[in-house]
Formats: sequence, structure tokens, C-alpha cells
Amino acid sequence: MNHFNRTKIVATMGPATADARVLEEMFNEGLDICRINFSHGDYEAVKKNVSTIRELNKKLNRHVGILGDLQGPKLRIGLVKNNNVTLEPGKEIIITTKECEGDENCLYITYPQFPQDVKVGETVLIDDGKLHLKVQETNGKDEVRCTITVGGILSSKKGVNLPNTKISLPCLTVKDIRDLEFALEQDFDWIGLSFVRSVTDVVELKDIIRQNGKRAKVIAKIEKPEAIRDIDNIIDVTDGIMVARGDLGVELPMEQVPLLQKMIVQKCIQVGKPVIIATQMMESMITSYTPTRAEVNDVANAVMDGADAVMLSAETSVGKYPVKVIEMMRRIITQVEEVDSIYYREHAPNLKTITYITDSICFNACNLAHQAGVQAIISMTNSGYTAFKLASHRPKAHIFIFTDNEALLSTLSLVWGIRGFYYNKYESTDDTITDLKNYIRTLGLVKDDDLVINIASMPMKDKGRTNMMKLSYVG
Ligand code: PGA
Ligand code: MN
Repeated sequence: MNHFNRTKIVATMGPATADARVLEEMFNEGLDICRINFSHGDYEAVKKNVSTIRELNKKLNRHVGILGDLQGPKLRIGLVKNNNVTLEPGKEIIITTKECEGDENCLYITYPQFPQDVKVGETVLIDDGKLHLKVQETNGKDEVRCTITVGGILSSKKGVNLPNTKISLPCLTVKDIRDLEFALEQDFDWIGLSFVRSVTDVVELKDIIRQNGKRAKVIAKIEKPEAIRDIDNIIDVTDGIMVARGDLGVELPMEQVPLLQKMIVQKCIQVGKPVIIATQMMESMITSYTPTRAEVNDVANAVMDGADAVMLSAETSVGKYPVKVIEMMRRIITQVEEVDSIYYREHAPNLKTITYITDSICFNACNLAHQAGVQAIISMTNSGYTAFKLASHRPKAHIFIFTDNEALLSTLSLVWGIRGFYYNKYESTDDTITDLKNYIRTLGLVKDDDLVINIASMPMKDKGRTNMMKLSYVG
């Protein structure tokens, strides 16, 4: 695989990807990150899935990473009669916190504080915003009376969104804590947190990971209006972001999502935090062999925005064409990455930070690469810091990252443009630079007359901060 995409592909695992042969084909079509959605599935199935992913990595010499997605305070309606209840517009309905089988008159909600938190006049949205209720009265204890403003058919366990309500549930539920423990035991690379509302949600998760002595990085899923209002601070504390367009487009008017996507991507690039665009990207391919032209455009636009990754949900987890949909996405990405306008997003580093020297080397390496038409930027890293930084400038030169930190390679699979290799020799700077150049030349990734930039830390053996750069021909 000598050609590879800068924009990465995340695919959700599920029954349709359980077969190792299917997953292998998905790897070969360009899958970079496997997403385990803790809203579904049991631990035994996930364990099997994880070991298949790791075996395939060994077999195919790849570093496909794993993202565990925690459900967060997702609200749901309980079971309903015959799995089919019709809500008539204009009629009234009671929402109760006492578990019962729902019908035309009464629905159970999995949110004990709902009658205390909700206020008269607020909106209750059910099933991805398809059904609308308006709150008329709450008894402040266990029942809320609503009128149905937009009706329709309701089946069991549908999601509920309360766009105007200040929800008092913690971001990490009891289930999330259990799922997190499992994900950390399995040494996942990334942990996604749903319905983030504030920086404290992210900080709390990061604290637990650190207390467990684990290396997993955090993706804050942006799908609440509160998160949009505090977006700068959330980007500041998190390791990565997901634009979770499904719930975001229910919690906020959906016409706001396209510009929010662009705003969030732009901010993430500026600070070098990976950003994933998620939900309905190839929705029609759940059942259809080809996507709609609008879906092709959506993926293309995410690539043009500069997203690190595009994500598939049901398209791969339960879809009919889990391999084909990866191929399709890869083809769109490849095509769009031909144009220059997606590259060269250099932004000057801030003088007043402790990382200034490294930041400055990364920035200037990308500038020089741009100006001199350099084929590749080569860096060694232990923490991955230079990989994130280099990627944030979106250079057209390839970014080849060498590290002796094996686990870091699967983390970096999510990051725009990064191609990582395992390397554990620390010679003198001169020898290492020659060694790395030879390595990528042998793989056919560069030719003798290509210019490359090496960045490194001198003296090499100290494994300190990146502080030097060298421009040279490969041969
Ligand atoms: P979900 O998150 O699939 O876990 O709901 C993505 C989204 O809301 O878009
Ligand atoms: Mn969601």
C-alpha cells in the first residue's frame, strides 16, 4: 500500500464485521480505527473482536487503533406495548419514571430526575427528533404531563433528547464506568465520551484513566448545545473531538450542523487535536450497494474541511456492505486529496509556551516542506507530540513517524496524514537520519532524488524535545 490517505477512516464494529475475513478486507480497503460502541454488544463479543483486530495488525503489519465509545447520559423510553404505539398529535401523554410498559397514555423514561429537572414549556424529542412533545406540567416527583405536538409511531427503547433541559445526570453513568474499566483493561487507544456538557466531564474521564495508569486518549463527543457554548475550553482539555452530528442535529436545529462542523474542525486543526466527523456519512449504504451523490459530497466536504477522520456507524456495524463502504470512502478521500487547497494550513507557534522550541521546529519544517516541494517529513517521537503538531499544519509532504513506543502507533492511526513505524535504535543523529531515510526508500515511499526533512532531538540518546531539522536528498 504505497498510496495512502491523509484523512483517516473510522468504522463501527458489529455483527456485520464479526467475521475475521470481512475485517481483513476492511483493513485492506483502508480502515484505520475500529470503533466499539458500548451502547450495543456484550463484552465477550468485543473481546473476540479486539483479538481479531490485533491479530490482523500483526498479520498485515498495520497499526489499526481501537476507539471505545461510552454511551454517556443517553436517555431512552422503555418498552412499549406490541413494540408499536401511535402518538396522536394534540393528545396528552404522561411520562413516568416508574418502570412500566408504555402505551398511548403513558411512557417510561430511563431518567429518574426528569420530573425535577424539566420545566413547563420545554420540549421532549423522541426517536432522533421524529416525535415532539411539549411539557404542560410536572409533579416534581415521578410524572410529567405533555402534549404531543408532532406525532407518529413509536417503538421500544427509542432515544430521548431534551434540548432545553439542564440534565442533572453525571456524564459518566454507572454503565459507563463499567465499560470504561473494560476498555482500559483491553488497552484501547481512544475513549469517546458521549453528551459532554463541560470541561469537567472530560477532566473526570482523564483522571480515571490516569489513576488506572493507562495511556488511552479521550475523544469528547460534541452533541449538546452546552458543549457548543464551551467549545474552546473543551477542545483545550480533550485529546480529540467527535462532531456527533446525529444527536447534535436533534439538540440544535439541524441546519446549524454544517457550519458548526466547519467551526469545530477549524479550531481543532489550530491546536493539533484530531477531529472526527460522524454519523450518516454513507447512511444509504446500510442497505444499498452505492451511496447517494449527496453522501459522496458530504464525505468530500469533510475532507476539504480538513477533518482528521470520517466515521461509519451502522454502515459497517450492521450494514450489508461493510467492505464496499470503506472502499467507497477511500476512493472519495483519494480523489479530494488531489487538490492543493486542503493542504498548507500552517499556523505560527506561540512564543510564550514551554513547547515553543518543538512547536517552532514543526511549524518551520512544514513551511520549508511547502516552499521546497519536500516529499516527506521524518520524525522520531516517544510521546507522539511532534506527530500531532506536524499534522496540524496539514503539510502535503508525507509525515513518517518513527517510535519505539509500539502502542503509540495505533493511537496515531487516527491522526491526519500520519504514517507510523516501529523503530528502536538510537544511534548518533547522523546515523539515525541515514537509517530512517534508507528505511522509507526501501519501502518505495521516497526516491533518491526526493528532498526530505528530518526533525529530531539532539543529542539523540537523551530522547528530549525535538530541537533540530535537516533538509537533504534521500540518496
Ligand atoms: P452515537 O454518536 O452514534 O453514539 O449516538 C454519534 C452521534 O450522535 O452522531
Ligand atoms: Mn450521539
